[in-house]
Amino acid sequence: MINLSIFETKAVIIKTQDFKENDKLVWLYTEKLGKITAIVRGAKKSKSKFLALTLPLCYGEYMVYKGKNLYTLQEGKIIHSFQGLLNDLYKLTYSSYLCELIDIACADNEVNVELFRNLVTTLYLLNTDAIDYELLIRSFELKLLRDTGYNLTLDNCSICRKKISSSNYISLSYYGGICDECPKEHGLFISKGAYNALRFLKNLNVDKLYRLNLNNEMKEEIEKITTFFICNNYARKPKSLDMLKFIKE
Ligand SMILES: [Zn+2]
Repeated sequence: MINLSIFETKAVIIKTQDFKENDKLVWLYTEKLGKITAIVRGAKKSKSKFLALTLPLCYGEYMVYKGKNLYTLQEGKIIHSFQGLLNDLYKLTYSSYLCELIDIACADNEVNVELFRNLVTTLYLLNTDAIDYELLIRSFELKLLRDTGYNLTLDNCSICRKKISSSNYISLSYYGGICDECPKEHGLFISKGAYNALRFLKNLNVDKLYRLNLNNEMKEEIEKITTFFICNNYARKPKSLDMLKFIKE
């Protein structure tokens, strides 16, 4: 019997690993199938048509066949290889971090078109020098948290739900700002300026980020918040975070 489980989807290669003598395993974050793992037969042979198609960060249109346990990569066409990101230590580290975030935050086969498009747009913007990398990454982190069920409540008190115009405290247990009356426990104090910037950043589309300009103190405050939620809500802490810290020093 012929199995007709063939899918065509746009995807970004987020991770790869050698497999057996000539094959490769690739993790794809796809538009239509969510995160999937596919085997690429003969990918390590020097003349393989899959060579460029299966490099980390490659964004393309892929055709995969669904087997019993794994997908098999059948065909592909590169849309943008993003290999330029690999030539710059900052861009390399930031783009690896984005891929690692997708890997740890998304369950297999969980489709999230908005998150997928955000990833692609963020890679495009990282590839240009139009936007402050830090803001780009923070914006992606906030959208990732939102799209994976950890949306931060910033317009209302996250305990009593009263509307608030600003706050100086983010609760780590209630996922959001706290009003003047509610208890400030298990959270982080944050300047009102950084709080407002965080709220603005969370709601701003990634392609409008060039409108935002923040000083380093505010960026650091926001980073503390997003890093906390990422490290505490996903399966493991992203390893590339340490690399990010290292290159910033
Ligand atoms: Zn309250």
